Amino acid sequence: MELWFTEQEQEQIRTSWKAEEVLFRSQSEFQAVDVIQTKAYGRMLVLDGCVMLTDADEFVYHEMIAHVPALIHKNPKRVVVIGGGDGGTVRELLKHKGIEEIILCEIDGVVVDTCKKFFPKVAGCLDDKRVKVKIGDGIAYMKELNQEIDLAIIDSTDPIGPGEGLFSGEFYRSVAKALKPGGLMVAQSESPWYSNDILGRIHRNISAGFKHKRSYMGAIPTYPRGLWSWTMAGQDAFSPADFDRARFNDIASGLQYLSVNMVASVFDIPPFFRAKLDVNE
Ligand code: SAM
Repeated sequence: MELWFTEQEQEQIRTSWKAEEVLFRSQSEFQAVDVIQTKAYGRMLVLDGCVMLTDADEFVYHEMIAHVPALIHKNPKRVVVIGGGDGGTVRELLKHKGIEEIILCEIDGVVVDTCKKFFPKVAGCLDDKRVKVKIGDGIAYMKELNQEIDLAIIDSTDPIGPGEGLFSGEFYRSVAKALKPGGLMVAQSESPWYSNDILGRIHRNISAGFKHKRSYMGAIPTYPRGLWSWTMAGQDAFSPADFDRARFNDIASGLQYLSVNMVASVFDIPPFFRAKLDVNE
């Protein structure tokens, strides 16, 4: 008997991957948490039916969401990651020796425990001495912070369920308040192929919190439409020209996706995507 896992995206697209075995199933307080052994991509973490990461391609997302802001910020020392319970973003941030403290605020402890067990290469660094893991709502946690952090990485699920509030104007304003002068936020900002109204809402809300924002993209075969985006925002203008090439060289040997030329041109997005963002600027 053949086993397939299918992710349904909105009403009109289904993507399926051949599965060898369901390794884990759980219903946490917040979501369904599943781990599937797939033929093509190895182990796959699925939350409420949506692919979060796979052994084979998780490096793309985690390198892009962590290193672009860490290299463009002049000298990040204190970083907050909201969501990101799989540990991949934290693993990449730890490659920056100048970062002194990373606080991960993940609402669902089941995600952390599951990833430590089934994705040790991704979650194994959560016990690093520079890392503090808080199990709680990132919305409430961000409200507690005032000009205390250099980077805020919003590594959330989609804008539904517990993740919905992480895409609101109120949340982005609280992030802006939490950042020190010169601080930067990066949020996963869904697929460039999504409709104007989905992207428009996210980008209008980011603009409610920040004077400057710019998006960038990466190709992730197991994410909807195979292309994903992140949006960087700050109160001061920023440019990839500011990125620290020496620090890039310090981490380059461990990277599988991000190249130095990619960082330099990271905000050079295609016209079809720019048109969606300009419409909503
Ligand atoms: N790379 C994935 C993506 O782009 O969809 C995200 C990875 S990570 C697994 C997403 C995490 O966000 C989940 O573990 C989820 O529990 C967490 N999350 C959702 N809403 C949250 C909230 N309000 N506060 C903290 N964590 C939240």
